[in-house]
Amino acid sequence: MGDLYIKQMLIRFFCILFFSSVAVASQITHYKSIFMAFNDGQGQLHIALRSFEKDGHAEYLIVSADTLETDVKLAADIDPFFPKKLPADCVAQSRFMRLISSGELRHSVSNKGLFLTVDLCPSQKPFVREVITQLPRSKEPIPIAIAVTGTWLSQHAEDLEWLKRQVSEGRVLVTWVNHSLTHPVKPDFMRSPGIVLEDEVLKNEQKMLEVGVVPSVFFRFPGLISSDTLMNKLRDLHLIALGSDAWLAKGEIPKKGSIVLVHGNGNEPKGILFLMTRYMRQADHWRALNEI
Ligand SMILES: [Zn+2]
Repeated sequence: MGDLYIKQMLIRFFCILFFSSVAVASQITHYKSIFMAFNDGQGQLHIALRSFEKDGHAEYLIVSADTLETDVKLAADIDPFFPKKLPADCVAQSRFMRLISSGELRHSVSNKGLFLTVDLCPSQKPFVREVITQLPRSKEPIPIAIAVTGTWLSQHAEDLEWLKRQVSEGRVLVTWVNHSLTHPVKPDFMRSPGIVLEDEVLKNEQKMLEVGVVPSVFFRFPGLISSDTLMNKLRDLHLIALGSDAWLAKGEIPKKGSIVLVHGNGNEPKGILFLMTRYMRQADHWRALNEI
C-alpha cells in the first residue's frame, strides 16, 4: 500500500513538473520595443529591436541590417558588443533602415521573382494545406511568407505544428509576418476607434515567440488598410509595411517582382484556386521575402 502511494505521488509529481515546464517554457514577459545597433563578431551590422524575458533570461529579438534575417539571442551574449563604436551613418544607410523609410512595399523593384504571401486572418476553418503540399518538388526549401494573427495562433495549434514540421523537414522556408493580434475589421480595420497599433503589433510578436516562431521585420495591415499616422507608428517600431500588388482573389495579375497575396485561412478559395491553376507550378520563381 505504501509503495503504491509513493508511486502515485511520484507520477503526480512528474506530471506537474512536465506540464508546468511546458507552460513556463513559453512564458514571455517585459516585452519592449528598443533600438540598439551593434556589429557582431564578424563585423556584421545588427540591431536589437525588442527586449524581453523568457524563463528568467533576458533576451533580444535582433535583425541583420543587411540580410533582414531575424533571430533571438540571450542578452548576455549580445551586450558586450554594444559599447563598440559604429561608423557614422552606417545604421541610417543600411538596407534595413532604407526599406523602413521607403513606405509600404507592394512589389520588388530589383528582384524579378515572385513573393508568395499567405495571410492567416482569424478563421474557424483549418489551414489550406494545399498551399504547401501542392508546391512543386524542389531540392531546396521553397520560400513562403506567412502573415499570422494572434487569434489564428490561439485557435490552430495543430495546424501550427504541421506548418513547423514542413519547415523542419525542409519543404518550405517560412518568413513569419506579423498580421496583428486581433485583426480589427469593423468599422475601419486598424483605423477603427480604440485600436492601439503598438498593442496589436507587440502583443502579436510576443504571442508568436511564445508559440515558437520568430517574427520577421514585416507587418501586414489587415485588409492592407493603413494611414499616414499608422505608417509613422509602424516606422517607430522599426517594421516594414508589407503590401501586395497581386491579391489573386481580386483578379490582380502578378508581374515580375510582385508580392502575391492569398488567404490560407479557408475564407478565400478563389485566390487559392488561381494560385493552384496558374502560378503554383514553377519552383524557381518563388523568392524569400528577405530578398525583396
Ligand atoms: Zn487579414
